[in-house]
Amino acid sequence: MIYLDYQATTPLAPEARDAMLRWLDGPEGTGFGNPHSPHRMGRQAAAAIELARDRVAALFPAGGRVIFTGSATEALNLAIRGSGTGGSVSVSAIEHAAVLDTAEALGRAHILSVSKDGQCNTNQDVPDDVRLIAVMAVNNEIGTVQPTMDWHRKAKENNALFLIDAVQAYGKIEVTGADMMAISAHKFHGPKGVGALWVRDGIKLEEQQTGGGQEAGIRSGTLSPALIAGFGVAAQIAAERMVEDAEHVEALWTRARKLFFDWDLNGSVGGRWHGNLNIRRDGLDVNRLMSECRNIMFSAGSACASGSGRPSHVLKAIGLSDKQAKSSIRLGFGRYTTLEELEEAAETINKATEEQGL
Ligand code: PLP
Repeated sequence: MIYLDYQATTPLAPEARDAMLRWLDGPEGTGFGNPHSPHRMGRQAAAAIELARDRVAALFPAGGRVIFTGSATEALNLAIRGSGTGGSVSVSAIEHAAVLDTAEALGRAHILSVSKDGQCNTNQDVPDDVRLIAVMAVNNEIGTVQPTMDWHRKAKENNALFLIDAVQAYGKIEVTGADMMAISAHKFHGPKGVGALWVRDGIKLEEQQTGGGQEAGIRSGTLSPALIAGFGVAAQIAAERMVEDAEHVEALWTRARKLFFDWDLNGSVGGRWHGNLNIRRDGLDVNRLMSECRNIMFSAGSACASGSGRPSHVLKAIGLSDKQAKSSIRLGFGRYTTLEELEEAAETINKATEEQGL
């Protein structure tokens, strides 16, 4: 099997896995303590969580705090719902459903348009009553990098808070300039089921679930030391390997562009994370392609949209027709992908495409 779906999730780093085992087993089975218990086992688990918090925080700017959640979806909900009521919420048209649907559920969503190459630019108005602007750092479907610094400035000019969905950027490129940022461990070689919201000091959030008052009363619920320890080590490794990982991705990208030279690229060439190759061939039957390339794990448009049969809202937002969107595939690669795997996958995909007469 060849795994080329790094935007959906990433392989667990062995270092993160090792860090997790201590909190599942522990010496003589003592790793299972509740981190909120005052006894020794509890305090040890709590210390592991604080170490991980520091490791996760190290990739964020100074002057903020990390709140652990069960996913980035939960972190984004906490940011959007917990930061106030009243006023409009402006979000880019290419946000993940965790942002788009949450803003829409609040009833005052305002959608920011994006250019044909997949950039949400600040040369557009926001409503006078805007209270929150959300623009992601890197898009999950087409990989385009958004001008978040400009949006932060614009949010301040409009007295609005600025939220970045940094899920696809954290651990890969520097993320700065926001009031809140949401991330997810499984997108950078950590475990699934754990995320975080970084919140700038001074910003008050309303809890979205009541209970034991964990995470300074903002996010009740027992934390998982194992998941969080894995999250922390994944962040630490990502920080240490950021340059090396980026160089590896660049080499894969250069090769991939050659292997798929006769496909059209969706989204900008330059202003994107190069671990994301979203390409199309007019007339391609993607379902047939996927069933003929069962050994290759890749995505039709996006993992979320692919189950629904609906064309991707991101590809539509950059001006593609339904037909073009439905003839697009997404190949995602990164740290553990080899050039040989990419070559083998390209040969299989290109052969199956030719068999469709394209
Ligand atoms: N935001 C983006 C850009 C994503 O790619 C994803 C996951 O696909 C999410 C949010 C949701 O993350 P999680 O799986 O942690 O809920």
